[in-house]
Amino acid sequence: MSPRALCLLLLAACAARPDPEPPAAGAPRPPNVVIVLADDLGYGDLGCYGAERIRTPNLDRLAREGARFTDFYVAQAVCSASRAALHTGCYPNRIGIAGALMPTANLGIHERETTLGELVRARGYATAMFGKWHLGHHPEFLPTHHGYDEFFGIPYSNDMHPGHPEQPKAHPPLPLIEGDRTVEVEPDQRRFTTEFTARAAEFVRSHAERPFLIVLAHPMPHVPLAVSAAGAGRSAAGLYGDVIEEIDAGVGVLRDALAEAGVLDDTLFVFVSDNGPWLAYGDHAGSSGPLREGKGTSFEGGVRVPCIVRYPRLVRAGCTIANPCMTLDLFPTVAELSGAPLPPLAIDGRSLVPILRGDPGAGDPHEALFFWYHANSLEAMRAGRWKLHFPRTYRTMHGRAPGRAGRPGSYDTGARIGLALFDLVADPGETRDLAAAHPDVVTRLQAMAEPMRAELGDDAQKVAGRARRPAGRVQR
Ligand code: MG
Repeated sequence: MSPRALCLLLLAACAARPDPEPPAAGAPRPPNVVIVLADDLGYGDLGCYGAERIRTPNLDRLAREGARFTDFYVAQAVCSASRAALHTGCYPNRIGIAGALMPTANLGIHERETTLGELVRARGYATAMFGKWHLGHHPEFLPTHHGYDEFFGIPYSNDMHPGHPEQPKAHPPLPLIEGDRTVEVEPDQRRFTTEFTARAAEFVRSHAERPFLIVLAHPMPHVPLAVSAAGAGRSAAGLYGDVIEEIDAGVGVLRDALAEAGVLDDTLFVFVSDNGPWLAYGDHAGSSGPLREGKGTSFEGGVRVPCIVRYPRLVRAGCTIANPCMTLDLFPTVAELSGAPLPPLAIDGRSLVPILRGDPGAGDPHEALFFWYHANSLEAMRAGRWKLHFPRTYRTMHGRAPGRAGRPGSYDTGARIGLALFDLVADPGETRDLAAAHPDVVTRLQAMAEPMRAELGDDAQKVAGRARRPAGRVQR
């Protein structure tokens, strides 16, 4: 065989591989994807979710132009685990991520997992991650090693530094990272929201000619709160309100950048939070509105968050979606819209395209959603209108002195709930236990939980789970 024939044969073999392949020339352009993720922003912190003292005109406008989800969940009410679900479409315990990774952690996202960045980069997207990552801080775990062309931000939470109010000596100086290189330590956090927003807007301007994915994961309003000089003192709700209003203003900046680049309506624009408010911080915490408890619990205030989706090519302006959905659904949604095949390993998310499109008969994407916490305890589940809690202790600030000015109060960690059933349509605040009144519903939901326990485990019942995949690990 001549070298030319061999070359043609190899080219043909490559061309025959179904994926990954960017869309053909002339094919309709798949949407850009912009995900703005807030940190510890509560269900009641936005105007369009009932906030009265915090003004969020840009997010309210986004909701008027798109869909506002009333029953949207994170997979776990804590930073790393929640992000693991967003980035991979998996329950975090499926891929070995639990809780919040500390600066001492030798764990991170495993190279076998497919991130949102990897998913769409194979379809020719430009990809960027700005702000907080929190899926492993060692270089091999950073976004530029997991599908992102660019990363500028911090590797974990903004309180993991020597200024931590309770553990001042526990953490090294906070690194600010460009790519996988630390470019600064202990950056002035007052720049965070505006600088990460500006980088996202610049990425829009410099990549408008091809599809792109931007994940803008604000470190705020996770404590310590910080706001730029221009944003300070503007809100009627103190420093916390200033921080939210600056995030909201950033949504306006990003929307303007998309509009000026002529791609606003070609963009799936998502705003969501990683978990509910960190209530121990009192006046530096957000509000879960009518919902019970907050971050670090599997009550609605911990796991139900605001979610707004704007994409006029698919989503009718001003609609409200009440189906229970979860951040892990964004991964297969983006896969469907970008034309990317789902990864070979099992994921848990379901595409939200039928719901977003308003398909007649589009029901809940999941028969049930499940909430694990701590290392791997199944704490609660939601199916339709019903939420079933499994017996456990939990933390609460009820009866405790709230934190003030950046210093936390202390939780009562011994509160108890037994097997309890709530009707979230009639009682979103989870105040009336209906387990005794509806034993049939309890039995039905318990039966639905069993296969999930067998698959992903439950420490409370000493079930390991047969389908869990370990996280990545470094030996240092
Ligand atoms: Mg958080």
